[in-house]
Amino acid sequence: MDILAHALWAGAGTAYAARRMTISRPVAVATVTLAVLPDIVQMLPLIPWAVAGGGTLAELHAFALAVPGQEPALPPLVALFSHHLHCIMHSAVVAAVVTLLLWLPRRRFWIPLAGWWSHIVIDVFTHSADYYAVPVLYPFSERGFDGLAWNTPWFLALNYAALAVTILWLALTRGRSKRLP
Ligand SMILES: [Zn+2]
Repeated sequence: MDILAHALWAGAGTAYAARRMTISRPVAVATVTLAVLPDIVQMLPLIPWAVAGGGTLAELHAFALAVPGQEPALPPLVALFSHHLHCIMHSAVVAAVVTLLLWLPRRRFWIPLAGWWSHIVIDVFTHSADYYAVPVLYPFSERGFDGLAWNTPWFLALNYAALAVTILWLALTRGRSKRLP
């Protein structure tokens, strides 16, 4: 799914959860940040290349909006780093290990991880075999589920319509169910 929709769904989910449990502002911000980070970290290796290497900002922009087969040519090392960062951040295996490592000392789920998990779960079903299928089992496999590509026009429209309805509902019911017992 696109970055904006990831942020909006995570924001809506956090706002709803805040009606049922105490969620501080920093935790809410961290949750939304982790929901968008998986699509941003893969761009990091391109920045030194675009700023000081042979790349251009136009190529960085082209990479961000690329469709399969039309990505700009990257230096092999940049492409390799970017690919594996994308895999790591979209892997349920990696997320499970991190979740466990953060859970162990406090025996409590670290709420911002819900943002990361939301990204992975949404992406698994909103990417298809020919549109960057998500390597959810990385590093064991880079194969992904053949879902429905999020850029399919009717799905894109439906997704934003659903977001608009959800955000409107949250706004209209604001303050109605503050902290259930
Ligand atoms: Zn993603």
